[in-house]
Amino acid sequence: MLLGYNKLSYVDLHSGKVEVKDVDEKLAYGFIGGRGWAAYILFKELDNIVDGFHPSNVLVVATGPLTAVQFQSGGKTTFAAISPQTGIYGDSNVGGFFGYKMRKAGIDALMIKGASPHPVYLLVADGKVEIHDAEKLWGLNSQETDAKLLNEYGDCSVASIGMAGEKLVKFACINVDWSRKGMRHAQAGRTGIGAVMGSKKLKAIVAMGDKDVKVADEERLKEAAKKLQKMVRESPNYEAWRRYGTLATIEWSNKAECLPTYNFQKTVFEYADNIGGSAMEKVKVFTRACSNCIIPCEHVVRFKLNGEGEVGIEYETAAMLGSNLGLKSIEEVAKANYLCDYYGLDTISTGSVLAFVIECYQRGLITEKELGLTPKWGDVNTICEMIRMIAKREGFGDLMAEGVKTLAERIGKGSDAFAMHVKGLEISAYDHRAATAMALSYATCDIGAHHNRSWAITYDLEVGRNSYTEDKVRKVIYLQHIRPLFDMLGVCRFYWVELGIDPNVYAEAYSAVTGKEFTFDDLLFRSEKVWNLTRAIAVIRKGISIKDDLLPERDFSDPVPEGRTKGAKLDKDKFIEMLKTYYAVRGWDELGRPTYEKLVKLDLEEVARKLYGAS
Ligand code: SF4
Repeated sequence: MLLGYNKLSYVDLHSGKVEVKDVDEKLAYGFIGGRGWAAYILFKELDNIVDGFHPSNVLVVATGPLTAVQFQSGGKTTFAAISPQTGIYGDSNVGGFFGYKMRKAGIDALMIKGASPHPVYLLVADGKVEIHDAEKLWGLNSQETDAKLLNEYGDCSVASIGMAGEKLVKFACINVDWSRKGMRHAQAGRTGIGAVMGSKKLKAIVAMGDKDVKVADEERLKEAAKKLQKMVRESPNYEAWRRYGTLATIEWSNKAECLPTYNFQKTVFEYADNIGGSAMEKVKVFTRACSNCIIPCEHVVRFKLNGEGEVGIEYETAAMLGSNLGLKSIEEVAKANYLCDYYGLDTISTGSVLAFVIECYQRGLITEKELGLTPKWGDVNTICEMIRMIAKREGFGDLMAEGVKTLAERIGKGSDAFAMHVKGLEISAYDHRAATAMALSYATCDIGAHHNRSWAITYDLEVGRNSYTEDKVRKVIYLQHIRPLFDMLGVCRFYWVELGIDPNVYAEAYSAVTGKEFTFDDLLFRSEKVWNLTRAIAVIRKGISIKDDLLPERDFSDPVPEGRTKGAKLDKDKFIEMLKTYYAVRGWDELGRPTYEKLVKLDLEEVARKLYGAS
């Protein structure tokens, strides 16, 4: 067994066969872990996979080599598959305790294929994986599922789906650790991986274990961890990050005039102060952290609104369910957030779908009769009812459950102009009409529009919001390599993003864990390799090219209506030129395909052969 790594488990839910194997050197050192492993495993299975919901799809659950070792923030796990939303590679990364417990159980990754004829859950413990009947769990929400499994197994971590995943809502999420007291309750939200679990009749995965992962050089790892800890404590942003987490970004975005408001019609929300970091502090109950983390950044608030509950709110959720829907208080946002978690829905996509439907109604493109209710900006009761309809696929909810791309195709009448998605994935919470680097980030993101691959908006503010320079292109590419790298290592990216930690410490830690020498540039090379691999998968599966790397028409034709950026919109010709520069800098052809030579340079000759045939 390689030092720093455990075993992989292959599970076939149709036949019930489970195998456990060693990690080979190519996968370990070539793709590191997490999303790197998921991309390569899905590439190898590509010819067999029919679509997102077909039993042939492979659900990959992968930790990283820094997960669950003595190194702070190492508690992240990637859930990946061919996405039912986009048809291309999809993944979502989550904290909590799940990855930590899975590594401690001696398993680094699960490859789950086939579909069970009846509901099941997986138990990962003592280096083994077992398939158990879950008939009694089917139909429960994650809170109930978690509680029952915790009751049965004690000190474990649970990843589970709610009703939305069971009903194959295209943007269903996976809930992690809902019932572990005081521990961060988190979601793998994006790209519909919860629906992939549902399609396999896989209700939950339980991980339990307490064995240490054997690392090559414990002393060296301890030194790296000490260095990291010192940098964290000395960071000027440490206290603010602990105090507000991501939620202070609401105030920041509003001030910067990029807060999506009323389906990205506006960029400023008059009630932003009621849903941001300061509002949160007034109703905060406690904070909680992921495993191995010294910066508890999830702030749990209590709401009382037709019932009561507690939920941890993040920026993306507060923006997409708050300003983007016109909800005016932190309690209203908390209630909508709670319902999404309860049913197991991605809050970003849900906020986008609801905003799109409300705007369609506002413009007279759909009627009350079709909807079965009267949607209104800021009407929390109707919004909660629509969330319920989506999760249960009830009435118009059945169409809403398909996401904005399909909604726009069915509603027609020009509604696609304001269907805020790229490649089928709803755009997350930054208006980018006056932020060209952020616009490029969304357009070129490998899973469809998602902010976390390249959060370039701060760079737009730094160098000028409306320029289309090569410098911005290079910045986006750099971010697209460094940020997803943390998902490969299995650590939290916030330490680098928010506290400015010197990233060389991660190479130090990875070298200590594996006993092999890696510089940070070596790691970045692997992240670039994975970026090219996921792009190649998109080209092979869906013929993705420059035509798909464009943004909704609203971005090019609807100017920002007010504020300092009033009148701003993207220039389509300049944006297409920017895309071409992006391809050229990446070493891709002018349609946006990685060239044969580029793939070979990245040690991806087998991918080049698959894309272009033997040459
Ligand atoms: S900083 Fe926040 S998201 Fe990151 S590991 Fe810590 S608690 Fe989890």
